[in-house]
Amino acid sequence: METNGVLGCVNISKETRDEIAEDFSCQEREPIHIKGKGIMISYLVTGPKHTLGGSPPLPETAISSASGDSPALGFPLVDALSLTRGDLVPGIVSLMVAAGALDALKIDTCLLERFARHVDAQHDDRVPYHNMCHVYNVVQMLCVFLGWPEVRAKLEPLEVAAVLIAGLCHDLGHVGLTNDFLKEIQAPAAKRFPTSTNERLHFQNLETLLSASETDILSELSESDRARLLDTVAECIGATDMARHGTLLQKWRRWAEMGVDWRDRSNRNFLASLLMKCADIGNEARGPQAAQFWVARLYAEFRNQIDIERALGMKESPSAKLVEADLYQSQLYWCEKVTIPLFKLLAALAPCTGIDSLLDNLDETRKFWKLQASRRKVF
Ligand SMILES: [Zn+2]
Repeated sequence: METNGVLGCVNISKETRDEIAEDFSCQEREPIHIKGKGIMISYLVTGPKHTLGGSPPLPETAISSASGDSPALGFPLVDALSLTRGDLVPGIVSLMVAAGALDALKIDTCLLERFARHVDAQHDDRVPYHNMCHVYNVVQMLCVFLGWPEVRAKLEPLEVAAVLIAGLCHDLGHVGLTNDFLKEIQAPAAKRFPTSTNERLHFQNLETLLSASETDILSELSESDRARLLDTVAECIGATDMARHGTLLQKWRRWAEMGVDWRDRSNRNFLASLLMKCADIGNEARGPQAAQFWVARLYAEFRNQIDIERALGMKESPSAKLVEADLYQSQLYWCEKVTIPLFKLLAALAPCTGIDSLLDNLDETRKFWKLQASRRKVF
């Protein structure tokens, strides 16, 4: 039945729909012909009906302590949790404007805002982690990086714009399902993109948005600039696939040791991708409180997927193993082996006080996970 599916969605039978109807929204499809079964009604799982697993609420209910301030001023670290839902798109737009996106793309705020609203429309608030709050946080942290002269001076204006567009679109159309899951159910997207399924799908969604004149934020660029910018965006989005993390880190470390030539575009693309990855997994650099909140959301998203896996009688996925493992030990490992080495690589390439303060935050978070893990052992 999966061969008749829609990219990025889970296609199920009526029986399965009935089983999971309480927890998941499903959309009826046109009757289709299934080989060996005849005409059948099938359904698409369009997302969880509500947030499962005791996950914290979305920011609609958060106290808006910072919404009156411009998030762009000097690019201080601001978490989406301090904003209301309605602040997210204007916040992203004002950050991108302050970071120089309009001049580089030769467009006005109106077009950028329209584009950002279309991106927003492709994110579902019922997806606990990969939603517009996460997108805001990623763009916000990218702007923090780009606010440091040591980073900014190494990139050309078009590359800065590419990094910002990558941040805004890097999870475009994410439905809260992992690449492993999409592969396991043989989703159409996984057939089209056997590796980095989600990431390639997000980039494809961006290309679709750009193909409509009303949302083509690259319309004023020459063919060659457009192609170069998209090349950098594709590299940045592709780098967010965690399955590639080990290989990329090894490759980047080798480049950094050999000495980076900033006149070389491939080296600048490497910095752009590193910024993207740091921003994407940078919640721990916001300190222990934010780190806890976002981990809870990520696990809630994993649990949603596990519920679908169980309903479909699938074998246990890596996400299920992670959720069952000791949360604090897993996070301690993640912090020490993944996040901190990545930020240290950035610090080696662009030493500055800004990155030092984020490394301090990361160390605070690491200590917090370690303390919680040791308490867990005692009891
Ligand atoms: Zn992301």
